[in-house]
Amino acid sequence: MKVGVLDLQGDVIEHVRALEAAGAEVVRVKRPRHLEGLRGLVIPGGESTTIGKLMAEYELIPAVRQAVSEGMAVFGTCAGAILLAADIAGSDQPRLGLMDMRVQRNAYGRQRESFEAEVQVSEIPGPPVKAVFIRAPIIERVGSSVKVLAEYGGQIVMARQGRLLAGTFHPELTADRRVHQYFLQLCAEDAEGRGPGAGADRLR
Ligand code: GLN
Repeated sequence: MKVGVLDLQGDVIEHVRALEAAGAEVVRVKRPRHLEGLRGLVIPGGESTTIGKLMAEYELIPAVRQAVSEGMAVFGTCAGAILLAADIAGSDQPRLGLMDMRVQRNAYGRQRESFEAEVQVSEIPGPPVKAVFIRAPIIERVGSSVKVLAEYGGQIVMARQGRLLAGTFHPELTADRRVHQYFLQLCAEDAEGRGPGAGADRLR
């Protein structure tokens, strides 16, 4: 399966390696033409204002929205989650705005610039995922079409709206590949959430 990593700024290479380790063919997306034929796109952590500005400059905002309307899945981590949110508290920075949720940037304050925690993700079986938070946002509220997948300290840290996935932490910085595998499963499903083999069943 072919998926992309948005390659404008941030921890791109870590996501490329994580997705390859999880079995995907990975393309680095710098321009709209690189979205061709992708089942999914990861928007990495970094600086959301910088990534958003470059996305706008290269006309990637309409291009990604179009690809999503044609079925591409997106996984935004940290800055990427901010770019997926329709509402960013106190900011009018450029964004995709595809998920019905409100985020607050840099929400853990200076004392907790970065920390690690164990997070149980409801749709990922097995033990909790080790989550690395770096100047992380919090997801303050989600709309009714958004499913909360994980919380930490009373805050939402992972949520999904169909095949749009947002996480406020960095799964690419640990050796556990379950979050990337989970995203690849979402990429393989059709819009109704059926697996790649489901169509054949319906024909029987
Ligand atoms: N603080 C960054 C922002 O607001 C996000 C940090 C990260 O992606 N690790 O864009």
